[in-house]
Amino acid sequence: MMNPLPAPVARKNQFASDNYSGICPQAWQAMAAANQGWADAYGNDPWTEQACDLVREFFETDCQVFFVFNGTAANSLALAALCHSYHSVICHESSHVETDECGAAEFFSNGTKILLVPGAGGKVDLEAVAHTVGRRSDIHYPKPKVLSITQATELGTVYSESELCAVGDLARRLGLRLHMDGARFANALASLNAAPADLSWRAGVDVLTLGGTKNGMAVGEAVVFFNRELALEFDYRCKQAGQLASKMRFLAAPWIGLLQSGAYLDNAAHANRCAALLEREISAIPGISLCHPRQANAVFVSMPPALSEALQARGWHFYTFIGSGHARFMCSWNTEERDVRALANDLRDLAAHLPHRHPAAKN
Ligand SMILES: *Cc1c(COP(=O)(O)O)cnc(C)c1O
Repeated sequence: MMNPLPAPVARKNQFASDNYSGICPQAWQAMAAANQGWADAYGNDPWTEQACDLVREFFETDCQVFFVFNGTAANSLALAALCHSYHSVICHESSHVETDECGAAEFFSNGTKILLVPGAGGKVDLEAVAHTVGRRSDIHYPKPKVLSITQATELGTVYSESELCAVGDLARRLGLRLHMDGARFANALASLNAAPADLSWRAGVDVLTLGGTKNGMAVGEAVVFFNRELALEFDYRCKQAGQLASKMRFLAAPWIGLLQSGAYLDNAAHANRCAALLEREISAIPGISLCHPRQANAVFVSMPPALSEALQARGWHFYTFIGSGHARFMCSWNTEERDVRALANDLRDLAAHLPHRHPAAKN
């Protein structure tokens, strides 16, 4: 006899990450629609072809598209495709590639070195990039080859179109390829109300990691090569890394569902709106302050540790290890307005009852 299924754990109070959310209806339906009979394996199926075409349509260009399981693979395989082992990749010190991928970029590129630059709000400081490239040109230095930026950034900010163009110009001037980690590319699109092409290849992006999971899919990111020559033999890289799905149609189908219905943008816009509401609701609470400009679906908050702990004790989940270690509240396609209001109410309530420090105790 089969064991009864465990009851789902109700974790309603959820602002930890947009990958704590479930599968959105459009992605789920598209997977169900692809679940018909037999189809050729390893991407030779009509769903994969259609999904690639939809991505090309979305970006208004004839790009090369690959579907992989997750963002770490998408980023590190893309970077490996752009580098030899003696090259280096320049990225922000708080970038996912540096802090959250367990050295995968270095691993898959057989030793390519990551060089870190600072920058306000999670955006690379262009002077620091130029300095990192220009300070050495001798054979002893890992040869800078790629500039990798994140859009929206790890700190919930967004590069504007003109900022992106400046990044693209600099990369071209310095002879660097430009990679964009777009795990939350849709949130940046929704935030700027811009055309996908303007935030990518028209600004000089060679390769984009296009996020699907955090937008509402079960699993999957796309690697989009605007510079098609760089995609040479990328399929082999995916296969060797264990990232070539045999039942590819189920990685591809959700893209059809999200892009055809417009949910890809709608989901991101909804998440951004929830974050904006949270920002408005909590900005006037004494004792807490907002850390970075809220431009996408995350709100970063500085608050006393006692308040953070009290909030967690009430069942709210959020991360405190991202970037500079502030509390991060992340909204997703299925965050509800009442969740946001309930969180804000608890924050307000707890902040009002927190024992105030005596001014004399200040140091
Ligand atoms: C979530 C995320 C990724 C992907 O992470 P995986 O867990 O490997 O799918 C990549 N970049 C950024 C900025 C992210 O937030």
